Amino acid sequence: MRRLRNAKIVATLGPASGDAATIAALFEAGADVFRFNFSHGSHEDHRARYGMVREIERQTGRPIAILADLQGPKLRVGRFASGPVMLEEGALFTLDMVDQPGDAGRVFLPHPELFGAVSAGHTLLIDDGKLRLRVEQVDAERIRTRVVAGGMISERKGVNVPDVIVPIPALTEKDRRDLAFALSLGVDWVALSFVQQVSDVLEARELIGNRAGIMSKIEKPAALNQLEGIIRASDAVMVARGDLGVEFPAERVPPVQKRILSMSRKHGKPVVVATQMLESMVSAPTPTRAETSDVAGAVYDGADAVMLSAESASGKYPVQAVAMMNRIIEEVDRDPLYRTLMDAQQQPPLPTHADAICSALRDVTRIIRATATVSYTTSGHTSLRAARERPDAPILSITPNVHTARRLALAWGVHSTVSPDVGSVEEMVEVAIAATLREGFGRVGENITISAGVPFGESGSTNLLQIAALR
Ligand code: PGA
Ligand code: MN
Repeated sequence: MRRLRNAKIVATLGPASGDAATIAALFEAGADVFRFNFSHGSHEDHRARYGMVREIERQTGRPIAILADLQGPKLRVGRFASGPVMLEEGALFTLDMVDQPGDAGRVFLPHPELFGAVSAGHTLLIDDGKLRLRVEQVDAERIRTRVVAGGMISERKGVNVPDVIVPIPALTEKDRRDLAFALSLGVDWVALSFVQQVSDVLEARELIGNRAGIMSKIEKPAALNQLEGIIRASDAVMVARGDLGVEFPAERVPPVQKRILSMSRKHGKPVVVATQMLESMVSAPTPTRAETSDVAGAVYDGADAVMLSAESASGKYPVQAVAMMNRIIEEVDRDPLYRTLMDAQQQPPLPTHADAICSALRDVTRIIRATATVSYTTSGHTSLRAARERPDAPILSITPNVHTARRLALAWGVHSTVSPDVGSVEEMVEVAIAATLREGFGRVGENITISAGVPFGESGSTNLLQIAALR
């Protein structure tokens, strides 16, 4: 079973898609990666879904990636004595360290770190930015603010602080528990929310090691100041437009999205564009024209994957949303302009053996019009470097390691298969030909290109480029 497109689809699971039949339908419709959102649902929910995804994998023989998305340090206000209160524009409102129910003049803010971090002139955003407060004065226990944009405020509403690096650990106690649980299940990717600096990624790497790939969600302005470092330290990147569009004015999201895409492409790190892609399909069976254009635009810009959140997790039309995304991406993939754009974005190779081979592979694949380019990989590195070249033929990735195969489900153009290590060049060619024919990537008489490393099975040894005719 093969997809007829290069860019991938990440579908978030939730109450609308928590049963085996719906998950199977989402996979059939085009989901390549399933996202488990640890902001919602119990460990038992996630454990059950994990089992269902692995069962589909077993039945279809196709590796599927599972992404555990950690909630991260989301800041929230405390409770109110008698329900929601109205904050009028121009009024004064205080956030303090007093653990008492709030009123129209004050509320508890249970995050002591903030009191030392913000200062006069900074902005606090409440409830996804619906309310704006300007800080007027801060002491050890109190942040006094003036209401700039008013509205109703109710208990546990989120607080965003776009102007500063908040001195809190990247992983909360809850995140650490969720992470340990997700790794014990065997997830392939872990997404870190509200990454602010390179050290946040390194801290997570200490805990995760090589057990899962690390995807940094870019949703804080502070992260953009260290964007290149964060991308280098991560295995993948998400343009998390939900919170990004709260911390930044909405009109700044498109250029920031393009910047993150282009920087991730430069480093060959898979990049996902997320949030509100087909938002209206939460309650309608068809999307708006603007939404289809948004999905297509992200793909034209070189995204490895596009993501569904509420559309597949809690909306009324989860399967239709994935099917719609699948059709949009296929349509882009058929457009000759897409190829022109991919070629125009070509990234110069680094002076490494893997990049030299992958760059040559791209040229040879195009010149001989190869029907597929087969990449032998142990860690997944060679297939990712091949994907970075955006070759004009699908990348058929062969690895003995099922974890590598699953992780690569996120990467542009990569169709992963699991197969034992080969022992010789002859065997390498035989296995590549058999896999190409079996997986439907070519017919007898057509040509493929192959990259591998000799000695076989040694990670980081990529040094061989071969042409073979299918027979
Ligand atoms: P979230 O992340 O859905 O976990 O908030 C994505 C985003 O902020 O866009
Ligand atoms: Mn977010």
